[in-house]
Amino acid sequence: MADYDLAIIGGGLNGVSIARDAAGRGLRVILLEQGDLGAGASSASPRLVHGDLAGLERRHFLRVRAALAERDVWLRIAPHLVRPMRFAIPAHSDERPAWQLRAWLLLYDRLASRSGLPASLTLDVTHHPVGNALKRPFGTAFEYSDCVVDDTRLVILTAVDAAARGAVIRTGARCTRAERGAEWRLVTIDRGFRQVVTARALVSATGAWTSSVAETILRVPPPDVATVQVSQIVVRRLFDSDNVYVFQNGDGRLIFASPYERDFTLIGSVGHGFKGDPAIVAMAASDVAYLCDAANRYFRERIETADVVRTISGANMQVNPPRKLRDGGMRFHHGRGKAPLITIFGGDVTTSRRRAEKAVSKLTPFYPMSARWTAKTPLPGGGFAWNGFDTEVDEVRERWRFLGEDQARRLVGAYGRNVSQVLGDARDRSEFGPAFGPELTGVEVRYLMQKEWARFPDDILWRRSKLGLTMPAADREALAAFMAVAV
Ligand SMILES: Cc1cc2nc3c(=O)[nH]c(=O)nc-3n(C[C@H](O)[C@H](O)[C@H](O)COP(=O)(O)OP(=O)(O)OC[C@H]3O[C@@H](n4cnc5c(N)ncnc54)[C@H](O)[C@@H]3O)c2cc1C
Repeated sequence: MADYDLAIIGGGLNGVSIARDAAGRGLRVILLEQGDLGAGASSASPRLVHGDLAGLERRHFLRVRAALAERDVWLRIAPHLVRPMRFAIPAHSDERPAWQLRAWLLLYDRLASRSGLPASLTLDVTHHPVGNALKRPFGTAFEYSDCVVDDTRLVILTAVDAAARGAVIRTGARCTRAERGAEWRLVTIDRGFRQVVTARALVSATGAWTSSVAETILRVPPPDVATVQVSQIVVRRLFDSDNVYVFQNGDGRLIFASPYERDFTLIGSVGHGFKGDPAIVAMAASDVAYLCDAANRYFRERIETADVVRTISGANMQVNPPRKLRDGGMRFHHGRGKAPLITIFGGDVTTSRRRAEKAVSKLTPFYPMSARWTAKTPLPGGGFAWNGFDTEVDEVRERWRFLGEDQARRLVGAYGRNVSQVLGDARDRSEFGPAFGPELTGVEVRYLMQKEWARFPDDILWRRSKLGLTMPAADREALAAFMAVAV
């Protein structure tokens, strides 16, 4: 008998979502990730959970409605990671006419009718706080509801849930060969050791590596896809309001500027074709300048390329033709004496849960499995209502009275109701162990190593949190030394 019912190559959002779905439906699952979970495109997404307003312009009404329904699912199952925000589009006479924007937003409200999020509004920004950060001569802006997500924590908590349901998650495990017969025989280099596992079916969720994995590891024809790079920049906080600004750039592209990790602003995105090693995706200087220029057309506070504190870039596959990007693509292949193979490419964060559900459902003729379940079951720590976030923060501060407001918010945003699993019964800050920067402590580092597969400082500083943005160099070194001996 095969070791597993399903093996998955790739620990990005698509891979872990399939692992969670399949493990919860009773399959024996193993997931192999060559580096850290979410280290590919999944930590470089534009962080939006949205219906995609621009989809209305392309007349993708059904797709927008389906994505808005999925947005509601995320608010229900991941209220700690997915936050409703008010998005503001300043109207400019050179761009799409105001009546057209207003019409789109009314339609967007209609398509999202059951969400419970506030409807769109027209604002006079000469008086409204939304206008404070904007250059003149903006007189009007349109405000609507959508959501932002902590993309990498979404990957990690999905993997945590998959593991809690029995999936084996291996990081630092590169699949180097896959032989196909009535079952799959996979060779992996797992933290330096060669291992062989067998599985009844295989999923390749390898993002920008899809074509090379198909050609060199699976030895099947690669899918018809293009590799694209998407990049964003992080600068100091440019505005006080809790809005996401949406700018219509001169070239028709929509540029988003959103509050990021309390003290910063995330501006993006810019995308184009990519060639090269997907593990090394660097943002071109011209792309950095493009996003700075876009922000400078709208915000009063000017930014130069030297103000960019971090660039975020990822590469992924885009199905040909590109109009299918939102849902991504999926190829399913099986045959007499040939174990099933599912290849996933592209697709956005909003529709990832449904994509995973669809992928696993393709295997129903091959195994007995239980019904679809992921739309109703919260991710770890997510068992509260989306508008109850502040109450959760208050409860955390009540229990650990020595925590500051900002620290409590970050912890609830990362762990939801599972903060107690991280902090335990500590009655005093000294019981948290050594401090690394103002917020990270030994107790959290240990938790991340034991329960969330963190192995190196970057796994914690950039993926399980974004504390790398503020942590001084000396603290990073102390963190590395601590992790080298901690278990
Ligand atoms: C241009 C562009 C625009 C996008 N726009 C949006 C958007 O507007 N909104 C949105 O929500 N999302 C957007 N996304 C999508 C999002 O960023 C990702 O596509 C999504 O997170 C899913 O990623 P993934 O799991 O397929 O790939 P990845 O996160 O890249 O994961 C693939 C993983 O496979 C691993 N791997 C590869 N080969 C092997 C091997 N041999 N053995 C073991 N592991 C291996 C890699 O290490 C990697 O971690 C966009 C993406 C791009 C590229």
